[in-house]
Amino acid sequence: MTYPVAEKIESFRAALPPEVELVAVSKTKPVEMLQAAYQVGQRHFGENRVQEMADKYEQLPKDIKWHMVGHVQSNKIKYMAPFVHLVHGMDKPKRLKELNKEAAKNNRQIDCLLQIHIAQEESKFGFDYTEARQLLEQKPGEKYPHLRIRGLMGMATLTDDQDQVRREFAGLAAFFREQQSLGHLAAFDILSMGMSGDYQIAMEEGANMIRIGSTLFGPR
Ligand SMILES: *Cc1c(COP(=O)(O)O)cnc(C)c1O
Repeated sequence: MTYPVAEKIESFRAALPPEVELVAVSKTKPVEMLQAAYQVGQRHFGENRVQEMADKYEQLPKDIKWHMVGHVQSNKIKYMAPFVHLVHGMDKPKRLKELNKEAAKNNRQIDCLLQIHIAQEESKFGFDYTEARQLLEQKPGEKYPHLRIRGLMGMATLTDDQDQVRREFAGLAAFFREQQSLGHLAAFDILSMGMSGDYQIAMEEGANMIRIGSTLFGPR
């Protein structure tokens, strides 16, 4: 292994405010790289394919907290339900229903985030603010007793226009605080936004969880 994963993780973490959780997005990377990150204390890892995450889960220490950051196909949910720590991409009621069902089968309460569509691109998934507001108002804890909606996730537009990225993150952060203050949910405390290219802006706008891949593990 030539890529200095351990050094990258350590220097990245050293510059991070303590209230921000770093999810090391290890998709497509070999388990040796995750092991190197684990050895310097990294515990939160993100993957975007269920099968790959399940394979890595089998091979790596069991105190790793696995984050599903990708778009999940319905028929794959059952493979991660036994062990996943946080599902970031809940983008429609149907998916909440499915995850709730698999969580029930596993006798678990699974933590998840509502993905909000904040980008200009059509290709990004998620609820719009109106849909999310309605969902959160309608007692989701009763409707999905095996889920805990812990907060929100968003991906900004892939653009060089930093003002646009900032506006999108600021909008999501404002919505997050609005929903927190309404207090529909007991533990609504995670705002997952920011990737390698835009995490600094995301943190300035209030992210307390960032999802970093290529900066830590090298280009994919
Ligand atoms: C791949 C991925 C990341 C990490 O992206 P980098 O640009 O490599 O940091 C973050 N979030 C999601 C949803 C991803 O799919």
